[in-house]
Amino acid sequence: MTSTQTLIDRRAQLLGPNVSTFYEEPVHMVRGKGVWVWDADGRKYLDCYNNVPHVGHCHPKVVEAITKQASTLNTHTRYLHEGILDYVESLTDTFADPLNTAIMTCTGSEANDIALRMARGITGNTGVIATDHTYHGNTMAVSQLSCTNPPPDRWSNVAFVPAPDSFRPLGGTSGKAHSLAFAAEIEKAIADLKERGHELSALIICPYFANEGFPDLEKGWLQPAIDAVHKAGGVVIADEVQPGFGRLGTDFWGHQKAGILPDIVTMGKPMANGHPVGGVVTSLEIMSAFRSNFRYFNTFGGNPVSAAAALATLRVVQEEGLMENARAVGEYAREGLRKLGETHKCIADVRGSGLFFGAEMVLDRHSKTPATAFTKRIANAMRQKGVLLNFLGIHYNALKIRPPMPFSREDADIMLTRLDEALTETPLEQ
Ligand code: PMP
Repeated sequence: MTSTQTLIDRRAQLLGPNVSTFYEEPVHMVRGKGVWVWDADGRKYLDCYNNVPHVGHCHPKVVEAITKQASTLNTHTRYLHEGILDYVESLTDTFADPLNTAIMTCTGSEANDIALRMARGITGNTGVIATDHTYHGNTMAVSQLSCTNPPPDRWSNVAFVPAPDSFRPLGGTSGKAHSLAFAAEIEKAIADLKERGHELSALIICPYFANEGFPDLEKGWLQPAIDAVHKAGGVVIADEVQPGFGRLGTDFWGHQKAGILPDIVTMGKPMANGHPVGGVVTSLEIMSAFRSNFRYFNTFGGNPVSAAAALATLRVVQEEGLMENARAVGEYAREGLRKLGETHKCIADVRGSGLFFGAEMVLDRHSKTPATAFTKRIANAMRQKGVLLNFLGIHYNALKIRPPMPFSREDADIMLTRLDEALTETPLEQ
C-alpha cells in the first residue's frame, strides 16, 4: 500500500467519512517554502491555489514572530496585551472611516457568525440575503447561507439571490442593466423575507464573488444592491475571506475594488499566513450595538501569538510590495492565459484581478456550454504535472488560480507551460 493510501485510510478511520481533500490523488505535503511545497516522496509542486500562505510558505519573518512570541508568552485574551491593539491599529489603517474597530477570531466562519449577530444587534431584524452559489463557513447559522450544500433544516430567515455571472449575465445584458437586475433580485428577496415575517438584517456577499467564479463587474456595479439593502433598514456584510490583504493587486480589499463601503467586513484565510486567525472590522457604532446586545469573548481570538503572526503577515505584505507584485504578475499571467486561448478554444473568458484569476472553460465558445468535467480533469492533470490549482464557479468550470503573493513571472511561465501541455493532452469532452 502506498503511503498516500495509508493516510487516506487513516483519515477515513480517524476523522470519519467525507473529509474533503483536493484532487483524485490527494497530495501529501510535508514541507513548504515560498511558492513551493514538497510531498512525502520529495516531489516539488508549484502552489497556485492555497490562499492561506499569503506571503509565501514559512515566510521567515512570520515564523520568527510566531516563535519569538510563543517563547515569551501566550495566554487567553482576557488580560491586557499590546499585541492585539497594535495589530488592530495597523489592520484598521487599511480601511476607510468609519471601519475603525475589530474583533479577532480564529476562523472566517466565526467572523461571519459574529457579523450576522452584529447585524441583528444594530438593526433588530432577522432576515439575511446571500447569493445562491457561495459558501460563508461552517457554524450552524453560517451554514444556513449555503444554497449549494443545503443544511437539512433550512431556516426561514434566509433568502438567496442569483450569483452574478458576467459571462452569462442575468437578462442577457452586462453593465448597468446587469447591475440593476441584481438589485431587483435583492428587492425581491427583501419582499420574500418580509412575507415570511423577517425584516432585513443583512446582505452578506463576497465583494469579489470569489466562490461564484469572480465575475468581471465594473466599479460601482454593486451600489444599486447596496442602496436597496440600506433602504430596507439592513446592513451590508462584505465577506473578504478570499480576496483581502492586497491579493487583487489594485486595492487592499475587495470592497475597495468594487467601489463600495460595507458596514461590516469579515476576513480569515490569508490573515496570519496559515496561523488560524480571522476577524471582523466595523464601525464603533455597530461594534457598540453588538457588544451591548451580546456578551462576547473569544478565548483564543487575538491571543499574543496570533496577533504577532497576523501583524508580521500584514507588515510583510506592505513592506515587500506584494500588492504591486500581485498586480503586475497577475496581469502578465492573464495575458499568458489569453495567448493560450488562441490555440485552446476551451478558454472562453479570462478574468480576475491581481493574483486571483482564472478562465472559464467551455466545450464550445458559441453556445458557452460549460466544460465542467473537462475542467476537473485539467485540475487533476495539473496536479500530476506538479502545479496545484483548482476550479469552481457557478458551473464548476472556472479555473481558479490564487498563488502566494510573491509569485513571480517565472512561476507564471511554469504554470502556463504546464497548462498548455495539459490542455493539449486532455480531450475536450464532457
Ligand atoms: N467565507 C468564505 C468566502 C470562504 O471561502 C470560507 C472558507 N472557504 C469561509 C468564509 C470560512 O472560513 P473558515 O474555513 O476559516 O471558517
